Amino acid sequence: MMKKIFLCILMVLIGLLVLSLASRCCARTLSENEYLSLRKKMVAEQIEARGIKDKNVLEAMRKVERHRFVPKDICHLAYGDHPLPIGEGQTISQPYIVALMTEVIRPNRSMRVLEIGTGSGYQAAILAELCKDVYTIEIIEKLGKQAQKILSELYKNVHVKIGDGYKGWPEAAPFDAIIVTCAPVSVPQPLADQLKEEGKMVIPVGKAGVQHLVILTKTKGRLIAREILPVRFVPMVNSKGEKY
Ligand code: SAH
Repeated sequence: MMKKIFLCILMVLIGLLVLSLASRCCARTLSENEYLSLRKKMVAEQIEARGIKDKNVLEAMRKVERHRFVPKDICHLAYGDHPLPIGEGQTISQPYIVALMTEVIRPNRSMRVLEIGTGSGYQAAILAELCKDVYTIEIIEKLGKQAQKILSELYKNVHVKIGDGYKGWPEAAPFDAIIVTCAPVSVPQPLADQLKEEGKMVIPVGKAGVQHLVILTKTKGRLIAREILPVRFVPMVNSKGEKY
């Protein structure tokens, strides 16, 4: 009798262990072919269908393996039409927003681009496919290090820095374009200063709940702004976690 009870408990414990291991290693791991068809579907239905036309941007979105940039336990959700949590209270943007922000800077192989808010590294990877050099800054050390690891395995033209992106990257400035993926209430002056003449910056501006994605073009030293759509991004913060 005792032996049977012991065996039962043992079986239950082994079952629980297997379940927890399976969920941690992404229970619903898909094959590379399945991921590829999810990516093609994502580009066709979420991105092309909403008006993104730049062939190179579409190609980069079909190529970069978004599932490698999200936490393992949710990698099966990587190609969904929504943002996803990436840890530390931060999120990877919805695929369409990544494509839109990339298209509006009109990327090409000769450009040096600055990104503020590395997060998972996914936006930086898309830029690395399209531009000459990508400089990206993340304020949360853990995220920055994680992104740096995966980006250095995949690309030679991405430079990751851990620090406060409000100040930009003066040593590498000026930039042909700047993409900001966290929201300050107004455009940081150092970023405006580090943008080249005729360069474009795309940035979510405003407080939580009332942010707009804005495209700024530097013309004769001044920034000309055009609002494109209401958005929801995490706030830009300083090293003490205070909002800008
Ligand atoms: N581009 C990212 C999305 C990042 S979410 C991706 O493709 O996954 C926004 C990121 O901005 C968060 O990781 C957050 O930590 C970071 N952030 C917030 N304030 C910042 C600042 N002052 N400097 C640099 N990064 C900042």
